[in-house]
Amino acid sequence: MYKPRHVPVLASEVVHLLDPKPGGIYVDGTIGLGGHTQALFALEPRITVVGIDLDREALSYAKKRLASFASRLHLVHASYTDLQKHLRILGIEKVDGLLLDLGVSSLQLDNPERGFSFRANGPLDMRMDTSQHLTALDIVNNLTEKELVDILFRYGEESFAREIVRAIVATRKSGAIETTTQLADLVCRTIPKRFHLRRKHPATRTFQALRVAVNDELRNLQNGLQTAFQCLAPDSVIAVISFHSLEDRIVKRFFHYKALDCICPPSLPECVCDKQVEGKILTRKPIVPSKEEMENNPRSRAAKLRAMRKSKAST
Ligand code: SAH
Repeated sequence: MYKPRHVPVLASEVVHLLDPKPGGIYVDGTIGLGGHTQALFALEPRITVVGIDLDREALSYAKKRLASFASRLHLVHASYTDLQKHLRILGIEKVDGLLLDLGVSSLQLDNPERGFSFRANGPLDMRMDTSQHLTALDIVNNLTEKELVDILFRYGEESFAREIVRAIVATRKSGAIETTTQLADLVCRTIPKRFHLRRKHPATRTFQALRVAVNDELRNLQNGLQTAFQCLAPDSVIAVISFHSLEDRIVKRFFHYKALDCICPPSLPECVCDKQVEGKILTRKPIVPSKEEMENNPRSRAAKLRAMRKSKAST
């Protein structure tokens, strides 16, 4: 049987920041295979964790892995954007710490059937939640040329977006593009050889862009941060690990806004806004993995961890 191995990224740093206390309630908004939650329980078993994920398969692995903490663990199949609703169902009002570890799990990436990877052949799928309708196949084969270019530019920051999409549109005229290998090969052929990087597959950006679009990842993050912050008890910490610059920018801007005491335009002679400081940034610069962690766990390479403590006075 396939056994996923997903080493949690920056786990000791996350645990240190969340600093679990006996009796506390913590949310792992992207529990995946349960690596970070396990690290939290290992430090302080007398906590309760609400573990959320869009991926049912991941939840069933997490359930097995964390079986010894079953009485203190609530697993929920949902998007972290719906956190508030699910906490209410569980009778929880505020939580004492929260983690979002964005990106993909090994379970998703290593299983060709899920269609996340350009390294193995599989259907063009990329859904985190397999009960969702929209797949990468729909996007690649049905969107207009303009819409596709937009996705590759915005979510993949792909400078050859136009050329790649032109090739996609030409190819799909004679039949649908159905597999990851078909798409990866097309991208490889389209980006001129001299622009291929040694350590990065030419299709990396295209696949990232499609994944972000299929799962509406940036909008979810934007909305999820708002909800998460609302559910956080005063004096508690929210930590977010991101894996590309678009996500990191959203987290950084959100934390900066929360830390401001005034949002008046500088031209005003005095402050007329009611903005209060809502939290304190705990990571002036994002925390990144050590060289050793990057060597041992190549998936951690792009990780950036940012955290903020909600103000005592903020509700
Ligand atoms: N920290 C985990 C790994 C998380 S990988 C561990 O140590 O094992 C990221 C996970 O986030 C994936 O399982 C993915 O399905 C999930 N995910 C992505 N977007 C989500 C969303 N909007 N709501 C809930 N889970 C999400």
